[in-house]
Amino acid sequence: MTPFPHLFRPLDFGFMRLANRLLMGSMHTRLETLDRPNQRLARFYAERAKGGVALIVTGGFSPNEEGLLEPGGPILNSADQLAEHRHITRAVHAHAGKIALQILHAGRYAKVAAAVGPSSIASPINSRAPRRMTLADIQRTIEDYALTASLAREAGYDGVEIMGSEGYLINEFTAPRCNDRDDDWGGSLDNRLRFPTEVMRRVRQRTGDDFLVIFRVSSIDLVEGGLTGAEIAALARAVEAAGANIINQGIGWHEARVPTIAQRVPRAAWSFAARLLKAAVQIPVVASNRLNTPELAEAILARGDADLVSMARPMLADPEFANKARQGHSEKINVCIACNQACLDLIFSGRAATCLVNPKAGRELDFDLPPSTQRRRVGVVGAGPAGLACAVTAAERGHQVTLFEAERGIGGQLNLARNVPGKEEFDETLRYFATRITELGIALRLGCRPDVAALAAFDDIVIATGVSPRIPDIPGIEHGKCVSYVDLLAGRQRAGERVAIIGAGGIGFDIAEYLSAPAAGMATPDSHFRAEWGVDAKILRPGGLLEPTAPPPRRHIVMLQRKSGRMGRRLGLSTGWALRLTLAKRNVAQLSGVTYGHIDDAGLHIEVEGRPQLIAADTIVICAGQEPARGLHQALKSAGRGAHLIGGAERAAELDAVRAIDQGTRLAYGLGAQDGPQ
Ligand code: NAP
Ligand code: SF4
Repeated sequence: MTPFPHLFRPLDFGFMRLANRLLMGSMHTRLETLDRPNQRLARFYAERAKGGVALIVTGGFSPNEEGLLEPGGPILNSADQLAEHRHITRAVHAHAGKIALQILHAGRYAKVAAAVGPSSIASPINSRAPRRMTLADIQRTIEDYALTASLAREAGYDGVEIMGSEGYLINEFTAPRCNDRDDDWGGSLDNRLRFPTEVMRRVRQRTGDDFLVIFRVSSIDLVEGGLTGAEIAALARAVEAAGANIINQGIGWHEARVPTIAQRVPRAAWSFAARLLKAAVQIPVVASNRLNTPELAEAILARGDADLVSMARPMLADPEFANKARQGHSEKINVCIACNQACLDLIFSGRAATCLVNPKAGRELDFDLPPSTQRRRVGVVGAGPAGLACAVTAAERGHQVTLFEAERGIGGQLNLARNVPGKEEFDETLRYFATRITELGIALRLGCRPDVAALAAFDDIVIATGVSPRIPDIPGIEHGKCVSYVDLLAGRQRAGERVAIIGAGGIGFDIAEYLSAPAAGMATPDSHFRAEWGVDAKILRPGGLLEPTAPPPRRHIVMLQRKSGRMGRRLGLSTGWALRLTLAKRNVAQLSGVTYGHIDDAGLHIEVEGRPQLIAADTIVICAGQEPARGLHQALKSAGRGAHLIGGAERAAELDAVRAIDQGTRLAYGLGAQDGPQ
């Protein structure tokens, strides 16, 4: 008996039965930019089908050239393309999975010269103004959706999802924000709903009644000039009447200035909007966004907020998510921590997605290596992200592993990161690794700093001793008001009311967030999130937006860096904007182009453009980067003993958990093997 009875209840459509209520949501992976793209995609989806998810929705395929997200983007508009799709559908069906193709016309978000929209109003995130569609364009485009759907059926897909949210073409027709037409396709609500309804109707007509059609509705637009809750309900009813089998929940347009899936968004923050959709229609509704555990999914279904639950990133993090949950082993799930660092941030920078906590995601073929023929004794020193990944993977490969950690617990820098508001999700990663260490029988030596002699018996030694905070050479740095970010985040020191932060890398920003967060605890409850970002849970006004409210700033904070120009340019592409906006709302000041003078009782003395300034501060937090901690590696080297160096100990600059975990995993595959993964 599964502990998640609502999640594992089948859903029967008569012509098709879903094994459970878990759907893998659509995500464009950019795997097509790697070698062997078709094999990679087929394998990627097949692993998830094998992992027990009931239905997979592919990344978006445009129904025509105008709707491409970018030149060369995914498109399905001709029978010539069916072979590559059959490869994917067969791979999924081989594991008794089901797969639907998403049809996505990018509308005014299309980064192609021929971009079209209901009006020629450009979006704030794409400088190209779309060409206003003629009546003939509209009819042809509806026909293109229908053709793509019928081709999908021919290719063996079990259904299609019509992408009607996130600000793409269908959304654009529905919202006065970018539909200024005065013909049958704009103006009144009925007219604005005509395009989605016609697309749905024509797709149903062309594919028949025994084909799954999911319609993704924007359940809250989060932009000025978006729909009200009542209008969204009318849209959902209209597509239901036109033949949709399922309504999937979309949240926020891409141009919205409200984060929707980042770590700072509380888990299940959008279930209120799923509930509104569910109240509007009779057909099943899917809840989505910021759902990452079976417990959350079960609670949503048990409350009746939705009938299915969609997770996209969590399926990258752990392809076995569904099977583990069904068997009652949610503690074994490698939970998606909503960091976006190795999925969306890579996709947005033109690279293929993978996953911070699971570097094998999207790279399954690279890890198809035969098990190691030798069982080697592997000593890993340092249980931060790099060491943990290496130890666990080496043990999975059959090696006998001992993991040494100087502190009383595993995690290294993750133990600091987890104290930053919104980054509590790192607890899941620590829990996952702790579970794997026990399951795999790794010998864990906590509070232990092995020396050269203690490591002599190992066949392979891996040094993952991490980093030490850099102490900048500023006169007065030893003053009592100077604290390291490490002591602050570890709770060993407290900050006063006036704070200067030296260094504005990822950690300087984390500290600014930590010190400026509202006093009421670390976790951001839903109500606080909605107040801070101006989200109306009743969606009474267009777009579901209200005036944001924020508590008065807790501290006077100044961030400083020596470089000139805007701060935070290296923050995550998909999350940095929200962090910068949050700090701006909390009146955190930023000073670039600084020359540090000295520190005394009055505070931090600096120069900016040759002019001296005093930053009066009670606390000066040092976030000036790190140096690799390589003492043990040097000692081994002096003793003539070779060792592998990974993580921050290998390269402190630009260290992050993505690189650390990837490097640790790949090294472990190489131990005792002829060739490691590429
Ligand atoms: P970092 O990104 O290298 O930034 C170090 C900061 O210290 C820079 O702003 C640098 O700016 C300043 N600095 C360097 N040397 C200095 C010196 N001698 N005196 C004074 N200031 C100095 O390092 P970090 O902030 O410690 O972050 C470490 C890694 O963790 C980074 O790779 C980061 O990406 C990652 N991280 C990521 C996240 C995330 O959310 N993705 C969060 C936290 C950390 P100037 O040289 O211009 O003064
Ligand atoms: Fe989730 Fe981060 Fe992995 Fe993306 S990279 S799937 S957000 S854990």
